[in-house]
Amino acid sequence: MRAMAKHDYYEVLGVDRTADEATVKKAYRKKAMELHPDRNPDKKEAEEQFKEVGEAYEVLSDPEKRARYDRYGHDGVKTAFGAGGFQWSDFHHFDEFGDIFGDIFESFFGVGFGGGGRAQPGGRGRDLRASVALTLEEAFSGTEQTIAVRRLEACEICRGSGCKPGTSRRICPTCRGAGQIRIAQGFFSIATTCDRCRGAGEIVSSPCPECSGAGRVEKTVRLKARIPAGVDEGMQLRLAGEGEAGPGGGRRGDLYVSIRLREHNRFVRRGADVFSEIPIGFAQAALGDTIEVETLRGKHPLKIPAGTQSHTLFKIADHGMPNPGSPGGPRGDHYVRVVVHTPKKLTDRQKELLRELAALGDEKISEEDKGFFGRVKDSFEKFKKEIIEE
Ligand SMILES: [Zn+2]
Ligand SMILES: [Zn+2]
Repeated sequence: MRAMAKHDYYEVLGVDRTADEATVKKAYRKKAMELHPDRNPDKKEAEEQFKEVGEAYEVLSDPEKRARYDRYGHDGVKTAFGAGGFQWSDFHHFDEFGDIFGDIFESFFGVGFGGGGRAQPGGRGRDLRASVALTLEEAFSGTEQTIAVRRLEACEICRGSGCKPGTSRRICPTCRGAGQIRIAQGFFSIATTCDRCRGAGEIVSSPCPECSGAGRVEKTVRLKARIPAGVDEGMQLRLAGEGEAGPGGGRRGDLYVSIRLREHNRFVRRGADVFSEIPIGFAQAALGDTIEVETLRGKHPLKIPAGTQSHTLFKIADHGMPNPGSPGGPRGDHYVRVVVHTPKKLTDRQKELLRELAALGDEKISEEDKGFFGRVKDSFEKFKKEIIEE
């Protein structure tokens, strides 16, 4: 191939020979944006010019190369580039101009470029995260939830290859399929991953029109996730293979679903155990009764012994949450605290009977009893000692 007459690097960037580093950088950014291949899809020469400003910037941003260029012209920097002249693999500033290069190389060359977040063709897709909010009942019995996830899917037109149907990938011209290039640095030459093909050795020659050669397109998908019984706030479920599609037809990542629990209006959950409170009448507490307690497993009869104090905690074994790790295994328990309800409105007849009761004595609260009432304000856990086993 015949080398074209080379343009003066200062003219290419449109800066004075005395321009400082910042001016050169600014000029480069402006030119690169102008010549952005996405903005000039039909201008083939824009692509050449785009590369030319890259070459000019590579030389003029490096004080040593620039000095050689000022003294000897293009011959002075010839050795900085390989036999084929400047290639993008000679450009060392992708990180600085990530905003310009990030999307270009994705759509233009069909492969990721630069930054660590980009994926290699044939690599695994990224893992994704989502969350679901469940009611306590749903967490108790297990449920199926529909989760909307926005993720990269393999393009249906090119089946993830990124190639226009009927075309295929071709050998990367920069590294000639090796996936590596050698960069001369003074006396040394260093092997490095080819920037053009990111080490794959192949590039997309005619990009697929649907995905612009990326092989993947962003879509919102609705997934059905089976949530096992017993899950708790903050737990994570892994849906294997439901993450992003891998680039170039690569394996999918996973989807991690975090569980959130909505607050319940009657039940409080602590690990595998469930707590509730139930009001009972003074007469029920004093004389004893059998009441119905609501649990997550349904209504359950509870015997209140005669002389039950307010805030006594009763345990209904095995009526708490199941263990999501072993569905058939032991469950948590249901704890119910009975709160003796003092009537606010009394009929004359009731008042009369209560006065009579008081007159019979034994209604003064002793010092120890006061102590007991003071402690009932504490947490449920502390009261487990006073639980009356069913
Ligand atoms: Zn496609
Ligand atoms: Zn290559």
